Amino acid sequence: KAVIQITDLTKVYQMGQTEVHALAGVSFDVKENEYIAIMGPSGSGKSTLMNMIGCLDTPSTGDYFLNGNNVSHMDDAELAEVRNREIGFVFQTFNLLPRTSCLANAELPLIYSGMKSSERKERAREVLTRVGLGDRVDHKPNELSGGQRQRVAIARALVNHPSIILADEPTGNLDTKTGEEIMMLFEELYRQGNTIIVVTHEQEIADHARRIVRLRDGLIESDLPVENPVLAG
Ligand code: ADP
Ligand code: ADP
Repeated sequence: KAVIQITDLTKVYQMGQTEVHALAGVSFDVKENEYIAIMGPSGSGKSTLMNMIGCLDTPSTGDYFLNGNNVSHMDDAELAEVRNREIGFVFQTFNLLPRTSCLANAELPLIYSGMKSSERKERAREVLTRVGLGDRVDHKPNELSGGQRQRVAIARALVNHPSIILADEPTGNLDTKTGEEIMMLFEELYRQGNTIIVVTHEQEIADHARRIVRLRDGLIESDLPVENPVLAG
């Protein structure tokens, strides 16, 4: 089953008199329970593509079907609704609320879901347990290590059972060993059936995925399976 169907996607930025073709015609599909790394040099269009996939922005032309719904022409409110429901974000900088508990952080995507507070807390506790932080629910992020903070962010990404986990340089602020532990967690989530997309410029991180899409100058340069993925864990 296709989660993502992207056809001839372009994104053009107007910079004064000149046009920047951040994406110049990108097509690819992602099926359920794929594990993909998006790579490419600086300026190749990774962030732009991530913003499209994550429903943070719409393309200039082309189509993006997410679970069969064309999100390319949605307005900001519709986009926000789809994003909240379908995408679990993990950022390089964690983007946690530092002075509120792990439980409250993990609960955040459910706040506008209409779910009862007690059910939200139960779900948040459950995902925190899944990422190995069952004994840290009442801690605040600034009382945790970098790796633990990223686990809270991953719990938050999982809490509304999104169609895609979209991670932007998830190990960028972590030391090698801690980064490897986070990649082990992604491997586990992949094996549990999640669809994972990791944007990274590090080959060692990309090699954990099962497929690498490489961008250059706003185009897909290559789209290849990983022959020997790093099977952490
Ligand atoms: P990457 O994430 O691979 O470094 P980006 O998607 O950030 O690449 O950028 C792709 C191209 O689009 C670059 O040339 C960049 O300068 C340009 N670009 C990105 N965002 C904007 C913007 N908001 N306005 C103008 N140009 C942009
Ligand atoms: P970078 O990798 O360049 O440091 P981030 O990982 O912080 O950037 O963010 C990647 C993209 O997601 C950016 O376009 C940013 O504007 C957007 N973004 C960051 N944080 C959030 C958030 N909490 N909610 C929605 N979008 C976000």
